[in-house]
Amino acid sequence: HAKSAGKNTIRFFEKAIEQSVREWYEKGTALRQAIARKEFELYFQPQVDVRNNRLMGVEALLRWNRPDRGMMLPASFIPLAEETGLIHPVGDWVMEEALSLLEKWERKGYPSFWLAVNVSARQFRSESFWSDLESRFDRYPASASRLSLELTESLLVGDSGVSAGRIASLRKRGVTFVIDDFGTGYSSLSYLTRLPVDSIKIPQEFVLRMKENERDRKMVEIIAHMARNLDLVLIGEGAESGQEIRMLRDLGCFVIQGFSISRPLSLSGFERFLEQGPPGKEILFQPPPQAD
Ligand code: C2E
Ligand code: MG
Ligand code: MG
Ligand code: MG
Repeated sequence: HAKSAGKNTIRFFEKAIEQSVREWYEKGTALRQAIARKEFELYFQPQVDVRNNRLMGVEALLRWNRPDRGMMLPASFIPLAEETGLIHPVGDWVMEEALSLLEKWERKGYPSFWLAVNVSARQFRSESFWSDLESRFDRYPASASRLSLELTESLLVGDSGVSAGRIASLRKRGVTFVIDDFGTGYSSLSYLTRLPVDSIKIPQEFVLRMKENERDRKMVEIIAHMARNLDLVLIGEGAESGQEIRMLRDLGCFVIQGFSISRPLSLSGFERFLEQGPPGKEILFQPPPQAD
């Protein structure tokens, strides 16, 4: 009896594995076709200096609009793209779209907010990522000085000698570098002094927990001190309430990105917003609601 139950269990798992392998394969195929079928889209989430409501930058966030399933968030396909190497064509599409938009926005005379693009470890380590970027700058010469690259910590530790040189040469062209989700990876403070980065982002999990937990609040305070001392722009991510904005402000974090300021906007939504301000002037955001 026990034996046949065991067999059934094995059969059950075999089926489950079979199914997940099939789904994985189908998704990979769909992902491969998605570029040709123009199913990717960038969304844009503003980063605002809450002292004066000035738009400082905007983060490009990838969406996959699957005809039969609707809008997919990166968590549902970026890991697969990274495993399969499809992150290279996907990342290529993102970079081409981002730089051509920057070129267009520059031409239209919008004030120079930066556009932050997420780069995953596999892209960063590939030779062609760098050479493609250089040739894109030839085609979109105004884009380099408005481009910001968001890297994760896990990407910076270990053998990063090459990266430091690469970062330095792109910074000469005006590209800025951001460490995303600072303090959540294999943190090693030494890379901060070794790598020439411009900015760090406080992750949403710290912002969430600092309301309840004194140690988390202290942690954010220490990060803010460090950013100030190292002349790094500090960006707080994931502020969902006026209370979170006020806490970040009190700790010395003034550039904030979060649902309380704006959700990620579609391209047309973001451009509509840009059109409202007169070209060449600063772009001001409505003050976030003070309720709660
Ligand atoms: P991330 O770079 O840390 O991006 C911030 C994420 O936090 C975004 O999720 C954004 O929508 C979300 N967020 C911002 N404010 C709030 C808030 O107030 N509350 C809550 N609950 N969430 C907030 P999203 O768009 O789902 O992206 C998830 C991750 O996917 C990104 O995390 C980034 O690591 C990755 N990703 C996004 N676009 C790309 C891309 O083009 N290339 C690569 N390689 N990765 C990307
Ligand atoms: Mg990011
Ligand atoms: Mg982040
Ligand atoms: Mg995050």
